[in-house]
Formats: sequence, structure tokens, C-alpha cells
Amino acid sequence: MNKKKLIIVLGGGESGVGAALLAKKNGLNVFVSDSGSILKKYKRVLLDNGIYFEEKGHTESVIYKKASLIIKSPGISRKKKLINKINLFKIPMISELEFGKKYLKDSYIISITGSNGKTTTSSIVYKILKEEGLHVGLAGNIGSSFSRKAIKKKDIYVLEVSSFQLDDSSNFRSNIAVLLNITRDHLDRYNNDIENYISSKFKIATHQRKEDIFIYNYDSHLIRKGLKNHIILSKCFPFSIRKKLNVGAYIMDDIIFFREKGKKEKMIMNIKKIPLKGDHNLYNIIASILISCLLYVKKYTIQRSVLEFKTLEHRMEKVLNINGVQFINDSKATNVNSVFYALKSVKSPIIWIAGGKDKGNDYRELVPMVKKKVKSIIFLGKKNEKFIFFFQKIINIILKTESIQEAVRMAYILSNYGDNILLSPACSSLDLFQDYKERGLKFKQEVIKLFYEKNRYI
Ligand code: ADP
Repeated sequence: MNKKKLIIVLGGGESGVGAALLAKKNGLNVFVSDSGSILKKYKRVLLDNGIYFEEKGHTESVIYKKASLIIKSPGISRKKKLINKINLFKIPMISELEFGKKYLKDSYIISITGSNGKTTTSSIVYKILKEEGLHVGLAGNIGSSFSRKAIKKKDIYVLEVSSFQLDDSSNFRSNIAVLLNITRDHLDRYNNDIENYISSKFKIATHQRKEDIFIYNYDSHLIRKGLKNHIILSKCFPFSIRKKLNVGAYIMDDIIFFREKGKKEKMIMNIKKIPLKGDHNLYNIIASILISCLLYVKKYTIQRSVLEFKTLEHRMEKVLNINGVQFINDSKATNVNSVFYALKSVKSPIIWIAGGKDKGNDYRELVPMVKKKVKSIIFLGKKNEKFIFFFQKIINIILKTESIQEAVRMAYILSNYGDNILLSPACSSLDLFQDYKERGLKFKQEVIKLFYEKNRYI
């Protein structure tokens, strides 16, 4: 790359700052431009590394006249006027993932996408490969951006990849690409058309070559449908928790098996002792095992890592049991499908705390599960009409609040011994909180306060 030319990074968040650091480390001339405010922690990094930046607006003349390459952060909408103009001026624009990859020609890339389970699966795979003693990095949507992690080269990268990152990538190629599931999510960003969303997710595989590997969920009919409509050159390995397969990974009599074409199946492990519970986690685990088997990881390493893996924060996280009532924090459940699995995996009667900013949800998928398991609902959020209108037909007790403290207390008053109080919102948190983490943390704080009040004399 010509070192004199100017690289402009659009967006000063984790992706943008990671890309800017990588550019700077490689002696390139780089400038960061953000239409909003850049967080203090990122400004500090930019200043410390002598990287110029602007915030609260783009100096468009500089972008059009000086930029030889634009690196776009995934959070910036492709419909933005600025992006259209950049395209009109034919300035090359790439994603932060593609930029990172330029500096990692020899590393092995495992990319994981799907509507749900990306963080969990990426973390399990990372743990297994690390335990195996491989020189592996974890990046993408999880923690540090890929570009930032690319500065200290690793042999293998496990990347959590969102559909927004895939949308910005016209040739990002992974050695192993994993598609965990596709369910209706973010459709507001895809003109409410599921086909657009499916195509976005399939980009993880369509940029691969024939020597690469594509791992997908055989049980998802939307993925099987997508397979028919996309040209995929790589070797395909499905996984299923319902059906015995000739190739890939599957479960029979509680045992996970791995099978390569024309070879005898290999027993990997029994699912009974796995601490991560629920069918959704079984999918995450079987996908992780399939990746590991294809990389020839020892069976013992796989077994030990899976047995040691603990639930991640805000994902079906058991908080406390107060006088026989179990509180569960599933704040990361920001779409309907993740709530489906949450309700499915919790046994006793549920008091369900849900709601927030609706992303065009279709709640019909939840009806049988809600009828069977939920005894009352507490809506936590600002705009509640759609949600309440839908569920009032099947649940008698629906309360609403905009305060998480009230939600916790209302739920506890409604509960009996043996009940579960589940925060699993099906919506994004942005109407009342900064993000799902703040929502989950505040929920836990309120539960802890309640615990001390109820157990004052312990
Ligand atoms: P992502 O990174 O894709 O958002 P996470 O692993 O952070 O996924 O989990 C997000 C939410 O989805 C949590 O509520 C979790 O319990 C649920 N979940 C995890 N894996 C799956 C899966 N395979 N299918 C459906 N829901 C899942």
C-alpha cells in the first residue's frame, strides 16, 4: 500500500480505532472521522498513538479529495448520503475485517456468524483451541476488533462476525466459515425482507474457495433454503442435534459423533454432563466440536474444555435464588428466537420480564411456549402497545413499568416457591439503557438488593 496516500477510517468505535491503529503501525497516513462523539477511552488511544481524528461531523471535502481508501465501520448505515457519495466518487471502500486480513496473509481464519450464539460459540472454540496449545486469538464483534488483534499476529483467529460486517465485505474469505442459525432479526436494516438477511449471512460462505470449509446448521430450514440459492465452492460440513448425518456432526443416544466423508464415525463425548444447558447451547457446542475435529484437536482436549466452559454473563445467567425463587439474567436475548430457547430451557413456572425497543418482532413463534410455561409477564420498556396487545390474549397478568427496580419487585411479589423470574427481553435495550450489559447489570444489582432485604437477619 502506498504510504503517502491518506486512509480515512469512518467511525471511531472499536472497529474504527482498531483499523486506525493497524494502519498507523504499518506506517500509513490515517485519519479517523466520526459523525457523532468518540468515546473518551478511544480518543485517548488515538491521541496516544498520534492519530488525527475529527468527531461530531465529517469534513466531506477532505474525504472526497484526499482519501485513497476508506475503511467503513459496520455501525454506519450503507444508506447514509456520505456512503453514496463515496461510491459515486469511486473511492475504494472496505470493511475493517478486510483491512485486518490484508496484514494476516498466513493466519488461519475461523469466522462464526448466525442470528444467535455467535459469542458463546466463538468463546467455546477459542477455549478448545487454546487448551490444545495453539497460538490463537479471539476477535471481531467480541471484545477487541479484528484489526486491533491483527497487530500482534496469531496463527489462528476465531472471529465473531455480524451480518453488518459481512454486508461491508465484498471479498472477506475465511478458511472455516460457520453459520449457526438464521432467524428473523435486524429486519429493520434489511427492508423487512428475510431474503436480504439470508443473503447477508451467506456472504460468510460465498467468498470461500474450494479448499475452505463451510459449517452450517442442518436443522435450520432457512439455511437449507439459502444453500439452494447461493453458489458455495467450499467443502460443506453440516451439524444437527436431530438427525443422523453421513458427514459432519450429530447426536445419537446422547453421544456427539463426528464423521468425515467415506470414513467411520468417531464418538466425541456424552452430552449428559455438559454444564451449558438448553438445546441452543447444544447447537453451539456441536458446532464448536465440529470445528475442532476438522482441525484435528485431541478428543480429550475437546471434552475437558466443553466440560469446563461456564455460562457467559447475561446469557441465561443464574443470579440468585431468593426463598425458592430463581432469578435468571438473559439480557442478551434481544430477539424472539433467543427467548424461545430461554423459555424452553427453564422448567418450572416462569415470570417473564420482557420488552424494550421492538426491532420488528413477530411474536407468534413464542405462543406455545408462553402458554405452556409463563404465568405472568412484566413489560419493561417505553412503547408497550404492540407487545401487550399480542400477549394479553394468552396471559392474564401483564404488568408494565419503565423501572428495572420495579420490575424485579413486581416479579417477586407475583412469585411462589419454585418459580423462575426470567429477564429475557426479545427486544433491544436502547429505550431505557445504554446497552444489554447495563440492563443485565442493573437487573442483577436489584436482585442482590432484594436478596439482602429478604434475608436481613442472616
Ligand atoms: P450472539 O453473539 O449471536 O448475540 P450470544 O452467544 O451472545 O449470541 O447469545 C445471545 C442470546 O441468544 C442469549 O440470550 C443466549 O442464551 C441465546 N443463544 C445462544 N446461543 C443460541 C443459539 N444457538 N440459538 C438461539 N439462541 C441462542
